[in-house]
Amino acid sequence: LPLRRSQSTFNHFVASTKLQPVSPPPQLRSDAKPFRLAVKDNITTEEFPTQCASGILGQHASPFEATIVRQLRSRGASIVGKTNMDEFGMGSHSTHSVHGPVRNPLAATDEEDVSAGGSSGGSAVAVAVGDADVALGTDTGGSVRLPAAYTGIVGYKPSYGMLSRFGVVPYANSLDTVGLLARDVEPIRSLVFDTGLYEEHDPNDPTSLRLETRQRCSQACSPNLPDLSQLTIGIPVEYNIAELDPSIRDAWVATASALESQGARIVPVSLPSTKEALCAYYILAPAEASSNLAKYDGVRYGIRGSEGDAAGETLYSETRGAGFGAEVKRRILLGTYSLSSEAMDNYFIQAQRIRRLIQRDFDRVFKLDNPLYEPRQFDLSEMSSDTALEDKQGPVQVDFLLSPTAPTYPPKLSEIQKRSSVDVYMNDVLTVPASLAGLPAVSVPVKVDRSHQFPAGIQLIAQYWDDRRLLALADKVM
Ligand code: GLN
Repeated sequence: LPLRRSQSTFNHFVASTKLQPVSPPPQLRSDAKPFRLAVKDNITTEEFPTQCASGILGQHASPFEATIVRQLRSRGASIVGKTNMDEFGMGSHSTHSVHGPVRNPLAATDEEDVSAGGSSGGSAVAVAVGDADVALGTDTGGSVRLPAAYTGIVGYKPSYGMLSRFGVVPYANSLDTVGLLARDVEPIRSLVFDTGLYEEHDPNDPTSLRLETRQRCSQACSPNLPDLSQLTIGIPVEYNIAELDPSIRDAWVATASALESQGARIVPVSLPSTKEALCAYYILAPAEASSNLAKYDGVRYGIRGSEGDAAGETLYSETRGAGFGAEVKRRILLGTYSLSSEAMDNYFIQAQRIRRLIQRDFDRVFKLDNPLYEPRQFDLSEMSSDTALEDKQGPVQVDFLLSPTAPTYPPKLSEIQKRSSVDVYMNDVLTVPASLAGLPAVSVPVKVDRSHQFPAGIQLIAQYWDDRRLLALADKVM
């Protein structure tokens, strides 16, 4: 393919050879409306290679197309290109890519390059510059919300298990979701809900929610957003971290005040386990990643380092040494270590416990019960300090949570280079809790300070499967 428009400026599309699709195109639905779709390069397409911004998958042609891509094509999508990203989804700035970094189009032309956010940075930029109407990204710990925040668009991470992940190259299976990006909430809302995407179970994806569970969840959540005067919105106090840029804090306060003036009740809430969320995420996600990436060994996929010695003993190490980038290698080492017998109890198991506490924190503050849990019979003999009943006691409960998406505005690429890995991981502190709990969340751009070059990303989080009302509220916040 020739370089696409703006490629040289923002590096958001992946230049690749067009392929001959092997399957017939999906049948167009009667309600299909044509739109341009950009697809993150860890989601398989038959028309283009799927390389996950990794050397190890150079020009890899998938023999099948992701369910989500086929679902959207049947709804009128034409794919405008595959988008640049952090290798295998690991990163927050779309700089860990074999194609080079994605650049933020909101930065002034005479200014240094600025982060577009990651890992779905290419998808966000494709939408922000108008090359696509909607883009597909993946969000494991914030990778749709963060680039949306940095590029001034909308990024939606659905409830875990709602949208099919068949054909999405896994990073951390227990956290991965497919998300959508657009300039406004409406195209996302209408695709997911008006065309019934949220109702479709995919038998090819073992994490796709079964039909009966979908129906049960939908019955538990109201489809309509009531008048704002009937809503309570929580401000999680632990999200007010010292590192928060003062003007992002202002945008957060202004958004809360605007909702309050439209009648909503705004209350502070506490999610005490939030402080541990980032550590737990950076144990669990690399652990799952190290296991997922074991298959890239030079035998089954992608490039091959060399034939190795006669016994093939160096084939794996040469392939993996040459094919993976530095951040992916770091994650493999971290993950392999925390899963090793000496570290398992102290890291992996502890992180799973923290994850449970985080889920419980959310369940305690939301008015709605988590519809995934079967309703429990009330039994006095079972009552202990962790019963659901006690969890529900205490301060007011809320319909939604409101927070910033990221602690700061997009940093300069040169600044990121100077930071340690841990400092870079810090950037995900406000997005990983909802990921660990599998909850739906959306980032919308809010501009309070007109003189500021970048809008602030404001995040809304809802109870599991309350996605429809979440998007309706997001639309009002913008
Ligand atoms: N920045 C986070 C990470 O590197 C999240 C990435 C994602 O959501 N894919 O793991």
